[in-house]
Amino acid sequence: MTRKYFLLFAFLVTFISLHAQKAYKIINEKSVSQIEKTLSADDMQGRKIFTPGIEKAADFIASQFKETGLQYWDGLNSYRQEFSMLRPKSVDISGEINGEPIPSQNIISIGTETSLTINEKSGYEQVSPDSTGNLFRTLSGLIKSEKPTIVWMPADMENSFKRLGFLANRPLMEGTVPVFIVLHEKPEHFSFTVKRELEKQSLTNIIGMIPGKTKKNEYVVFSAHYDHLGIGKPDATGDSIYNGANDDASGTTAVIMLAKYFKALKNNDRTLIFVTFTGEESGGYGSRYFSMHIPPKDVVAMFNIEMIGTASKWGENSAYITGYEKSDFGKILQNNLKGSKFHFEPDPYPQQQLFYRSDNATLAALGVPAHTISTSKMDNELNYHKQSDNFETLDMKNMTEIIKSIALSSRSIIDGRDTPTRIEPRDL
Ligand SMILES: [Zn+2]
Repeated sequence: MTRKYFLLFAFLVTFISLHAQKAYKIINEKSVSQIEKTLSADDMQGRKIFTPGIEKAADFIASQFKETGLQYWDGLNSYRQEFSMLRPKSVDISGEINGEPIPSQNIISIGTETSLTINEKSGYEQVSPDSTGNLFRTLSGLIKSEKPTIVWMPADMENSFKRLGFLANRPLMEGTVPVFIVLHEKPEHFSFTVKRELEKQSLTNIIGMIPGKTKKNEYVVFSAHYDHLGIGKPDATGDSIYNGANDDASGTTAVIMLAKYFKALKNNDRTLIFVTFTGEESGGYGSRYFSMHIPPKDVVAMFNIEMIGTASKWGENSAYITGYEKSDFGKILQNNLKGSKFHFEPDPYPQQQLFYRSDNATLAALGVPAHTISTSKMDNELNYHKQSDNFETLDMKNMTEIIKSIALSSRSIIDGRDTPTRIEPRDL
């Protein structure tokens, strides 16, 4: 190398790394705290779906995306990706079993048909759950599945049956397959009739993007959910607002900060999509809708960020990745952090099945290396789903380090050098 070229080379290296450092400084504790504080403030009313509080949060996130200079996602003319849900206003059920009428309160009907009659010849899958298993998990699987199903629960499961009553009132996506839960052992003959009045209500994901320089049709998704539980009864301290500072204003803050960082860095070869989901706490509606409206084959990786506001079980400068062993995503991230004190670990709570419970689940089931990054101590997170999950309980210094580390760890995926291996697809 001649001296002239050497100087030019040295200048370029310094220039590029100064530029990267400047971008890196964008993720600082003060800015992270400001956004986190806004999202978890009392005036967001716990960001529950179908309330003014979540609308306010949606507007704030959209205004941050605008200020950052993100583009709209394909086919949208704003940052809002809206879709509608059907909410039961009234449900009328009647039925008989082996020729005898059955009280309507012994039948729970979940579905979006306004009028439906079924019997043993209707081809419904019939299951009798194991009274020792996790009934709720079994049922939420059924509700998301594609097979019309009847769940028969014998009389000794009456208490569990009663706890499922709320399922009848949950909003559902159009086309959700019908599920009946009946307090009775499986009979030979039956017939049920349901008449339902439904109300349409809309939900909104907030999406922004930075087009890739060379690989526009290869997407890297950064996501978190911005909804939470709303307002409930006051706790012992008189607090009734579920601020959801950790769950998941922390992840939402990370998505906003990462958007600012990558926009300033300006060197992404792949297209970056920043999305904050609605409806996670009520069944993952936002992420399911988003995931069904993007070609899974074009999504190279998804970084879903959920609850990073407290130190993990290993202490500061660490986080875990759900489904770590299902692709080489985690190894790639860790490799990009060589020389840093930060470390990613496999999910230490595999029995909780976090991988298929969070917003990464739909894309993962479609084969995308879609993982959730978290620090939440699922066996001992003191404020989890409590009114006390508020800003004051978060470790903002550590959270800032985590966001910086996610930025660094994604480097070789953003610039197209690394492509994580795909996940084995499975039924949704
Ligand atoms: Zn959450």
